[in-house]
Amino acid sequence: MINLILFGPPGSGKGTQASKLVEEFNLVHISTGDLFRFEMKNDTPLGLEAKQYISKGELVPDSVTIGMLKNKMTKHPEAKGFIFDGFPRTIPQAEALDQLLAETDQSINGLFALQVEDEEIIKRILSRGATSGRADDLDETIIRNRISVYKDNTLDVYDYYAAKKKASTIEGVGSIEQISNRLRKAVSATI
Ligand code: ADP
Repeated sequence: MINLILFGPPGSGKGTQASKLVEEFNLVHISTGDLFRFEMKNDTPLGLEAKQYISKGELVPDSVTIGMLKNKMTKHPEAKGFIFDGFPRTIPQAEALDQLLAETDQSINGLFALQVEDEEIIKRILSRGATSGRADDLDETIIRNRISVYKDNTLDVYDYYAAKKKASTIEGVGSIEQISNRLRKAVSATI
């Protein structure tokens, strides 16, 4: 089994690169952002709860997010491994993930952090907002809040896996192909 975390600030290209890695390594892609958007689109109780936080650029509470992730993983008993995109975003989420994987004698092989400067990220998200239909992509105040939440809460997750010698950084600026080549090399060196 191969379990990878694709890490990085909002708008760093995690979703785009995850799709490439999924093909290459035959993994199941789990994006907590996509899962929340699906729930919101369908106005489910989970979606309505998540929306209160997502619309402000805040994190959805850990208990809700971890529950949703577990539920998704149990739906894929056939998986050869997972690529986690947008999860874990807090230390309790990372601990929950490690524990969950340990139950089936698995662990995270590596965390790969895409590095992109703040101003580039804001540009990318605003231009994605023009077509994505995502309310959280349209307002610069919300985008800046997502970036500060990333710095205040999520960056700790990098250190958590770095302490286990499982974290590496990837230059996240360049063409999609250049970045996916860098990632492919880093992943291949890890597994
Ligand atoms: P981006 O990486 O562009 O911020 P995502 O699609 O990963 O976009 O996430 C969108 C929003 O969904 C986040 O701003 C947050 O509110 C919520 N979200 C996604 N994943 C998590 C998570 N692991 N924990 C808490 N909230 C999350």
